[in-house]
Amino acid sequence: MKCPVCQTALDYDRLLDSYLPAYRCRQCEGIWIAAREYLRWLQQQPTLLPEKPADAADLPTADTPQLKLCPQCGHFLIRYRVLPNAGFYLDRCGNCNGVWFDQNEWDVLVAHNLHDKVNQFFTQPWQSRLRAEEARLKLDQLYHDRFGDDDYARIKDVRQWLQAHPQRGMLLAFLQADDPYAM
Ligand SMILES: [Zn+2]
Ligand SMILES: [Zn+2]
Repeated sequence: MKCPVCQTALDYDRLLDSYLPAYRCRQCEGIWIAAREYLRWLQQQPTLLPEKPADAADLPTADTPQLKLCPQCGHFLIRYRVLPNAGFYLDRCGNCNGVWFDQNEWDVLVAHNLHDKVNQFFTQPWQSRLRAEEARLKLDQLYHDRFGDDDYARIKDVRQWLQAHPQRGMLLAFLQADDPYAM
């Protein structure tokens, strides 16, 4: 099998304490994992690990945006986004479902307990969740820009206090009324 990025012959490797068979490129450090091997490994896991949130600092830096061919069956690999607001893409074969990880991408997934959810990345629910999270982040940024640090922090506190308050409706009416004391 040849590396889909640099065409070097891939070496057999084993990941995760040797339990997961994979192929690694010595040149570009990319990793290929076959769908069958991955699912076999996944079925042996007692539970899915709790996800650890990723921040921009520890996202993979290597990405190879060029079109790639599956090292196993020769079909095109399809690029999928994995995390919200991050240039983190994985390439997956639409035919045999194997996945290509550029240098460091697999390690980032392991560091965030996402390596046991790779099969979910390519599903509708995961991709919808990604879009919803991105929309939230966009609005958060917009509020932040408009209100500024202090006011945004303050209004979030007020909102939290109001939401849990039994007199919420009346408090809101009080706030919005031109003169809350006029009958
Ligand atoms: Zn390579
Ligand atoms: Zn394939």
